[in-house]
Amino acid sequence: MNLTDTHTHLYSEAFDEDRDLMIRRALDLGIARFFVPAIDSTYTQSMLDLEAAYPENVFLMMGLHPTHVKENFEVELIHVEEMLAQRRFYAVGEIGIDLYWDKSLLKEQQVAFKYQIGLAKQYGLPIVIHCRDAFNEVFEVLESEKGADLYGIFHCFTGTNEQAQRAISYNMKLGVGGVVTFKNGKIDQFLDQIDLRHIVLETDSPYLAPAPHRGKRNESSYLVRVQEKLAELYQMSPEDIATVTTENSKAVFKI
Ligand SMILES: [Zn+2]
Repeated sequence: MNLTDTHTHLYSEAFDEDRDLMIRRALDLGIARFFVPAIDSTYTQSMLDLEAAYPENVFLMMGLHPTHVKENFEVELIHVEEMLAQRRFYAVGEIGIDLYWDKSLLKEQQVAFKYQIGLAKQYGLPIVIHCRDAFNEVFEVLESEKGADLYGIFHCFTGTNEQAQRAISYNMKLGVGGVVTFKNGKIDQFLDQIDLRHIVLETDSPYLAPAPHRGKRNESSYLVRVQEKLAELYQMSPEDIATVTTENSKAVFKI
């Protein structure tokens, strides 16, 4: 089995007590590739440490998360730019718009999102999008930036079939995680109408644990619950789900 967790915050404080054991549990299940999104500069050192400890398995992204776009966001964007200039990252992420927590910084979030898309294009990298209560606002930016050099992953996709098609039209793969196992998760009702080549798997650990762990801390080893659910929806073997979605992740991250 070769599974890829395309979105996991392995450096989160939630794993401070048992990080190595938690990563071992995932590795033992064949989850061998972890793509790690950035949040803001305060986490950069922990991300680099993680990569040093697991150089074969951990692949880092760089970016400023929309909920961390604050008054100092320009300083944070300089950090993102400096890190991208220094060394290899595999995506610019996670970036986007989040209007669930706070609508007052929408303008700043839009500026930061567009700016970071520009950086991704400059370095030939994919983007990893965080979108919460902001489909219209995110699509507006993607519409203005669309083109062959715009591609990536719509992380934790929770929209409608129509929104899924629109995301795909901007060269985005859909990141599917624990929500697909929720009773009211909705995407399980149309996912089989979307070609599996547009889907990548993710946990978003430590958030959004799949059933039966819903509400508890999530971890990368729970990716198999998402894999099993997709096998059921697509009527394919779990092995084939692993193979196809890992190939999809390789097409995005170029590794
Ligand atoms: Zn995330």
